[in-house]
Amino acid sequence: MAANRTFSIIKPDATRRNLTGAVTKMLEEAGLRVVASKRIQMSREQAEEFYGVHRERPFFNDLVTFMISGPVVVQVLEGENAVQRNRDIMGATNPANAEPGTIRKELAESIEANSVHGSDSDENAATEIAFFFKPEEIVG
Ligand code: ATP
Ligand code: MG
Repeated sequence: MAANRTFSIIKPDATRRNLTGAVTKMLEEAGLRVVASKRIQMSREQAEEFYGVHRERPFFNDLVTFMISGPVVVQVLEGENAVQRNRDIMGATNPANAEPGTIRKELAESIEANSVHGSDSDENAATEIAFFFKPEEIVG
């Protein structure tokens, strides 16, 4: 399959613990290339829109509060089968259920503070990339 792109967020629990390099190293070792990256402070409105699919879930308000509790690093990742490759190296949502060697198993704190976000489909990847990046900010 040709190289394609996915969208990643290094979440506030990881930036707080100075783990942006550790996370990025694991992404790169999994065969993903960082083709865009910036450290930002998300606004509440941005976080609510980004996670809008979860608006009705009981954890929504806590999730938004967590995502704006500190800076995040938003990234575009490129590689063969990028969406699935990233989901594989991220591990299960709950780090307690994640496979050894995955980012969430090795680094995450809890089901909420789980260190990374990754797109779950090519379609969502395109939407999420466009939410944070202009085309000229992505340099493959
Ligand atoms: P992400 O979308 O961040 O990549 P995911 O696709 O593995 O994670 P989702 O079901 O989309 O998981 O949930 C989005 C995020 O909401 C999770 O990554 C986690 O931070 C938080 N979350 C999910 N389930 C729970 C829960 N039961 N309690 C608290 N927070 C949760
Ligand atoms: Mg998700």
